[in-house]
Amino acid sequence: MRAKRCDRCGKFYDHYVGLSRFRGGCKANALVLIDRDLDEKYWSRKTYDLCPACMGEFEEFIRGGAVSTAEKEEAT
Ligand SMILES: [Zn+2]
Repeated sequence: MRAKRCDRCGKFYDHYVGLSRFRGGCKANALVLIDRDLDEKYWSRKTYDLCPACMGEFEEFIRGGAVSTAEKEEAT
């Protein structure tokens, strides 16, 4: 198995499949930032490989701190 390096924390990690690791979340193992215009056309910019811990933190961040969408709805 090839080790990857997290673009956020710098730690090495074994490749993982986002679909099986984060079933209820984004189901991803990397981020792609885009630049989108008003007609929804977009251009890919920078990509980030994230270790499972950083992807887990991203999942919480993107949901406003809740672990799952259901928890976010409970909190409001
Ligand atoms: Zn990381």
